[in-house]
Parts: sequence; structure tokens; C-alpha cells
Amino acid sequence: MSLLEIKDLNVYYGNIHAIKDISLIVEKGEIVSLIGANGAGKTTTLQTISGIIRAKSGQIIYHDKDITKMKAHIILKEGIAQVPEGRRIFSHLTVYDNLMLGSYSIKDSMESKKREIAQIYERFPRLEERQKQLAGTLSGGEQQMLAIGRAIMSRPEILILDEPSMGLAPLLVKEIFEIIKDLNKNNNTTILLVEQNAKMALSIADRAYVLETGKIIKEGNAKDLLNDDIVRKAYLGA
Ligand code: ATP
Repeated sequence: MSLLEIKDLNVYYGNIHAIKDISLIVEKGEIVSLIGANGAGKTTTLQTISGIIRAKSGQIIYHDKDITKMKAHIILKEGIAQVPEGRRIFSHLTVYDNLMLGSYSIKDSMESKKREIAQIYERFPRLEERQKQLAGTLSGGEQQMLAIGRAIMSRPEILILDEPSMGLAPLLVKEIFEIIKDLNKNNNTTILLVEQNAKMALSIADRAYVLETGKIIKEGNAKDLLNDDIVRKAYLGA
């Protein structure tokens, strides 16, 4: 039994058939990447898992439970948190308040939420230095760290990340990917990741799926895909 299993998923925007019979699995402890060109359906897949978009047909099973029709805030409570594309932090709130809001779904005491924030500060010292700063004034990389910090405030079992490297300079991209790896290894967080940066996405992942116009055209071990001729030509600029 996989931790997360998507079976024959179909998603439409009006008449546009954005996701066509997608099936995929995520095992506990894995990093799984979805790669593909613009408009391939990566974001739509993630948002359907998170309950933001409704599937027309198919099933999303998490821990043996059908979550396909669950509301987004319940799915978060169940243990799946998403860092959305473009971060979507609350720019007019401080770094600290953004983090606090990340834990709204859990019933913990204020004390334990504060302990959680202290742990996030350990992981992201720059957020601690800037805890009273308005989030909108952070740099792009810091905003991405804040978005990840906010998502892990709910202590998710699965963290879903939509284009975490978007708009970041190469050094920061490396740093964000190190953080993702560390969350996976040392915080026991299973990762489902969407990336335009296919090389990064494949080098960090255990397994990956390649999407093209709403369909999965290839899947497998990430290392094998890195050496796959079609993948290299289409997505790695080889
Ligand atoms: P990108 O990397 O550009 O974000 P993506 O792989 O994440 O691309 P999606 O954003 O999931 O792709 O889009 C999949 C398809 O669905 C595209 O053809 C897109 O135009 C269409 N689509 C996405 N959102 C909507 C919407 N709100 N209304 C209509 N069509 C949409």
C-alpha cells in the first residue's frame, strides 16, 4: 500500500481536458518529482491533490482513505501541505505572523507552536533575523524559505512544492534544494515536487514522472530518467 496513490485522474477547466487519466504513486519517505513543459498539467495535478481543484473522475487515496472529494483544509489537517507556485505569502504580515498562520489547522497550544517556530528558525536563521519584518519586503529566496517554513508549521507528512526554484538565482536554487533534501532525510517528510528545472528535480528525486499535455509519458527511477535520451533532449537541453 503506497502512502499516496492517484488513480486515473481526470481534471477539466470547462472544456479544456487538463489532466488525462493520470496515475501515480508516492511511497513514504520518497522524493518524487513531476517534470514537464509549460502547461503540461503539473500545477493542476498538485492542486487537485490538495483539494483546491476538483477532479472530474479518478481517485486520490492517502493512507487507505479516499481524499478525492475532501476540502482543502481537511486535506491539510490529514497531513498534506502545499507550498504554492509563486509562494503566496501574506506580504503585509510579519515573518513571524506568516509562520503562526501556517499552524492554524492544528490544535496545539501556543507554547508548542512557538517551539515549532523556534525549530524553523534553527533551520532558517535568516527568518529569525527578519522575524518582525513584513514578508513582502523579503528577497525572493527568503520568501521561498518563509513559504516552506509556513507549510511545515502544520507538521505535514507529505510536503508538496510547486516550482520552488522559480525566479531564484542559481546559488539560492541550490540552497532551497538542500533544504528540501534535509527535510526529507532528517525530518521524515515525504516530498512531491513540481519543477521546470528538470535537472535539479531529477537530481534530488528518487523517482519522477514526465508530463506532456496532461498525460504521463514516462516514469521511473530519477537517475534513469536523467540518462534517458528523450528526457535529455526535451527537458535537459542535451
Ligand atoms: P506551468 O509550468 O506553466 O505552470 P503546468 O504544467 O503547471 O504549467 P497547468 O498550470 O497545470 O500546467 O495547466 C495545465 C493546462 O490547463 C494548461 O493548458 C492551462 O492553460 C490550463 N489551465 C490551467 N488553469 C486554468 C484555468 N484556471 N482555466 C482554464 N484553463 C486552465
